[in-house]
Amino acid sequence: MNGNGNGEAATSAAQNEDAPVLRLTAQPVSVPPAFRLAGRAARPDGTVVEAGSVPIGNGRAVIMAGPCSVESREQILAAARAVKAAGADMLRGGAYKPRTSPYDFQGLGEQALEWLAEARRATGLPVVTEVVSPEDVELVGEHADLLQVGARNMQNYALLKKLAAAPWPVLLKRGPSATIQEWLLAAEYLLAGGNPNVVLCERGIRTFETAMRNTLDLAAVALLKELTHLPVIVDPSHATGRRSLVAPASRAALAIGADGLLIEVHPSPQEALSDGAQSLAPEEFRALMTGLRQSALAASV
Ligand code: PEP
Ligand code: MN
Repeated sequence: MNGNGNGEAATSAAQNEDAPVLRLTAQPVSVPPAFRLAGRAARPDGTVVEAGSVPIGNGRAVIMAGPCSVESREQILAAARAVKAAGADMLRGGAYKPRTSPYDFQGLGEQALEWLAEARRATGLPVVTEVVSPEDVELVGEHADLLQVGARNMQNYALLKKLAAAPWPVLLKRGPSATIQEWLLAAEYLLAGGNPNVVLCERGIRTFETAMRNTLDLAAVALLKELTHLPVIVDPSHATGRRSLVAPASRAALAIGADGLLIEVHPSPQEALSDGAQSLAPEEFRALMTGLRQSALAASV
């Protein structure tokens, strides 16, 4: 240390801004923040993601609805017309289905994508659908408006890197056992790779509780609003696994600040090839939408 110990060094350092200063007060250690791009500080006013013509994150709740799986042309067209009539903003439907059992319905792939695109033309509803493999990103992007990364694939880094370089917005579901930090770091992969259009989706996590399919972590939505600028939606269907709980969970999700909902609706839930127990019939979905509008949780259409 320069100086004679009676304060001259500090005085001369203050006069010369380039001189090193020994600070005696505690300073935060300067390390790069983990969420360099996803963190709220990067965009304090929040991000609005455009999916087709639909803005997500602008304060108006976006309702995405449709069957778990695309099962036939008639089924997806009927579902699309029903959810559109009830006031949905977007159509969902799985073409590639990541199923727990290899013996369960695996989805109709490219054929289903073509029917989804037809349903989009028929109703004007933008489409959200899952992409499971990096090789399918281009094909799915040609038929859909928002590409879903399913819960099981949240940490599929090859898929995230492929989507990071793609021109389509991404719906990133929370992994069944993912912490919020892991989830945001998965989003960081997309942002760091060049894709700024990321929407997060809380769909329930695995806990000790088995009474419901998953445990809906609603407080995570409020916490994410503090931690990140990215829009956050909630999937009450996979979170609860029970048709009767979808409406109350939807109301709670919007009340706590979710930017939208992803809801399974099937023209005939008892005949669904996947997730029938949590799928709403069209009239149940209509009643839910009416209730959301009456309580001002969703805007009038
Ligand atoms: C789905 O949306 O149909 C789905 C498979 O959801 P998750 O990835 O959340 O299980
Ligand atoms: Mn499903």
